[in-house]
Amino acid sequence: MLEFDLILKGGQIVTASDIYTADVAIHDGRVVLLGRDISFPAKKFIDVSGKYLLPGGIDVHTHLDMPFGGTVASDDFASGTIAAAFGGTTAVVDFAIQGKGQSLKQTTEVWQEKAAGKAVIDYGLHIAITDLNDAVLAEMPEIIEQGYSSFKLFMTYDGLRVNDDTMVKALHVTREHGGLVCVHAENYYIIDYLVKKFQAEQKTEPIYHALSRPALAEAEATGRAIKLAQIAQAPLYIVHLSCKESLQEVKRAREDGLPVMAETCPQYLLLSEDNYREPDFHGAKYVMSPPLRTRDNNEILWRALAQGDLQVVATDHCPFFFKGQKEMGRDFFGKIPNGAPGIEARMPLLYGVGTAEGKISLQKLVEVSAANPAKIFGMYPRKGTIAIGSDADIVVFDPDKELILRQKILHENVDYTPYEGIRVKGYPVITIAGGRVVVENGRFLGEKGAGKFVKRSAPLII
Ligand SMILES: [Zn+2]
Repeated sequence: MLEFDLILKGGQIVTASDIYTADVAIHDGRVVLLGRDISFPAKKFIDVSGKYLLPGGIDVHTHLDMPFGGTVASDDFASGTIAAAFGGTTAVVDFAIQGKGQSLKQTTEVWQEKAAGKAVIDYGLHIAITDLNDAVLAEMPEIIEQGYSSFKLFMTYDGLRVNDDTMVKALHVTREHGGLVCVHAENYYIIDYLVKKFQAEQKTEPIYHALSRPALAEAEATGRAIKLAQIAQAPLYIVHLSCKESLQEVKRAREDGLPVMAETCPQYLLLSEDNYREPDFHGAKYVMSPPLRTRDNNEILWRALAQGDLQVVATDHCPFFFKGQKEMGRDFFGKIPNGAPGIEARMPLLYGVGTAEGKISLQKLVEVSAANPAKIFGMYPRKGTIAIGSDADIVVFDPDKELILRQKILHENVDYTPYEGIRVKGYPVITIAGGRVVVENGRFLGEKGAGKFVKRSAPLII
């Protein structure tokens, strides 16, 4: 008689559309049966009554082992994906950054090497194009074919940014070949001017990082990217949208029926510009781009998620130690490595601050943390839902487990969390990835290298 690998008994399954009670049978890494009181034999049973079963979180914006500003993001594919698993995330899509003069193929090889033997959960790779010559353009269709169906273009940062004509060229290729362009939208020239101005005036503290990158500089670039995509008749995805000004651009485009989608991040939902004024240089912990905005943006972004104006919450996880890394910018905010950790706290924050406080429904949480990321980035319905045939990436979530987020209880390889002291109600207690129990009651049971590369297909426009 058939014996399943694992049966989860009595949990409440949550998808982007439904909540219902059922047992889940898992075999060979997939969900094979859903139903009341499944009575087949199995190698292992777990009683999950009183718990939610959520599709494993998918974080489509991470920077693991990434060089930036003379240093390297402190989580690699091992520590970063372990932290992700503890926080209820079962897949990441990381950014492979093209080095100058590198082909896209070489870029994928460098990042596959970083992930090999380390990732404990499945991973995909976007390619951040920084040098788009004709050879690279010609290479894009084949790379899409190989499962790297999304590309990131930076509109800012020296050494990474691309011009408008480059964006249109890339947009044309993705339209033709079923890919998706993602943009980091900030106006390079405004920021460059303000950074140099503040530096000349010896305004060097972390708060000037925020003041040198105004919301309107983001909104301008967002609006421009949307128009370039419209010219190319291509879909577009805006990463880490931080403010109401950019949101208006996205909303207007979507109301006009354009295939424009956008993500925000927990830091823009929870933190604010005030954090940059923390004493003793602690404001540096929040130096990221775009910067944290004024407090009023938090509620506006929550509402945009609830109403479907924003489609995804990802983290832009890019940790640097306060000691030794962030401190590189003690004399000048422009030297502070940009980025902050968040991969582990995303799901608990979305539930504890979002769902438990009535800002977003539980189905909406699943939609923005798993279903939409899977759809937009070509992994649905293999990932992003709990259904027969889908990957057994499941989070057993205890809505009653309360705790206070602290750096010392998290597993990210970094010496602080921006969410220190935030009390959350609801926490992942078991994380199952590809049918394997990776985390159970605070213990890591996974295996480095068990995470597989996910070949992704064309985006679904939502
Ligand atoms: Zn990023």
